[in-house]
Amino acid sequence: MRIYDIITKKKHGEELTDAEIAFVIEGYTNGDIPDYQISALMMAIYFKGMCDRETATLTREIARSGNMLDLSAFGHLTVDKHSTGGVGDKTTLIVAPIAASLGCKVAKMSGRGLGHTGGTVDKLESFPGFNTSLTPDDFFSQVDRIGIAVIGQSGNLAPADKKLYALRDVTATVDSIPLITSSIMGKKLAAGSHSIVLDVKCGSGSFMKTPEDAGILAEKMVEIGKRNGRNIAALITNMDIPLGHAIGNSLEIKEAVSVLEGGGPLDLRTVCLELATNMVALSLGLEESVARERVTDALKSGKALAKFKEWIVTQGGDPAYANDPHSLPVSSFSRDIVAGTAGYITRMNAEEIGIASVGLGAGRETKEDVIDPSAGIIVYKKVGEHISVGDVIATLYSNKEQAFDAAEKKVLGAITVADERPEDQRLIYRVIK
Ligand code: URA
Repeated sequence: MRIYDIITKKKHGEELTDAEIAFVIEGYTNGDIPDYQISALMMAIYFKGMCDRETATLTREIARSGNMLDLSAFGHLTVDKHSTGGVGDKTTLIVAPIAASLGCKVAKMSGRGLGHTGGTVDKLESFPGFNTSLTPDDFFSQVDRIGIAVIGQSGNLAPADKKLYALRDVTATVDSIPLITSSIMGKKLAAGSHSIVLDVKCGSGSFMKTPEDAGILAEKMVEIGKRNGRNIAALITNMDIPLGHAIGNSLEIKEAVSVLEGGGPLDLRTVCLELATNMVALSLGLEESVARERVTDALKSGKALAKFKEWIVTQGGDPAYANDPHSLPVSSFSRDIVAGTAGYITRMNAEEIGIASVGLGAGRETKEDVIDPSAGIIVYKKVGEHISVGDVIATLYSNKEQAFDAAEKKVLGAITVADERPEDQRLIYRVIK
């Protein structure tokens, strides 16, 4: 078999056989097939797509490319959650400790930032010392002891996706339904949780721009999960505007902690309440209304916040910052963005705002880039709000002062202001079970 022939086949829109897909994943994982040929294949898949059988095979091969964790010792208590990626999406930092504080076993493999979207692993690494590469034994024993562990794609769990993910990030091949499905579900199957809650983002800041595409992606992932014996639900949620106010790694940690403290922005709180409710209902086998009550109580009582702190310290995070995340370092420079026109904000292109935050240092433009945890943006005014000339719409944070001009231009270009108040946005479009 030759990779050249496989690329040619897909370039012409032909279906790949199971053996060809297995050959690609094995060859790329062990280093026999170079990045440049896989980049060409990813682009061909992006344009020509994959049928359901090819997508299911690609998912299975990604899951099998390394160890598959056996979490059956925890019975049906294990639960995982995954987002398709968005701007300001810090929900894992909130819902994972809520679920763990209620007796679920949260065993989660998360990703790094991808394109204009942030990644949980990068956010957690804002805590000096936080270890996102636990061995399978340590991962298992941490879940057993404290009910929660979140790791990156380190070690030997879905190593094929680790390489593909980093490559797709810099070759503009992320927003493809078969590639996202296989990337997410390959990881989820390898990580072994019995229940899975997917947050499928929809809108300008996500890879799926329309509710229709988000629905197709969600249904495909739910189908693959069910066929593999998992208890799975998918929520389709709004990512037309950034979630919450903070974008950027340690800024998002601080906002997530505000929610765990009982405050935080309403949109973020609402989405987290629904995600956590679904996680708790699935893994503890509860009625949704009962699960919602328990989630609300975990926030009110401070149980979820205490679990968050315990989790960060257990996984190696500096206890001083874990106990007071609001004291995480701030960047050396900041700049306010001020409104030049009065009116209602009618649109806020979340992707452009995500790209602006990457330029400030909160994400990667090449595989080698090192993230600046303190870089990012706080957006104060969102769609539907009225602004007057001189109002501060957002503040930029960076250690590279020279990055401000371009980021300011991008943020201002992302915002549309008009006289008419726009219709309220829906936060949750649909739940697929
Ligand atoms: N999240 C993933 O884990 N993979 C993708 O391809 C996109 C979002």
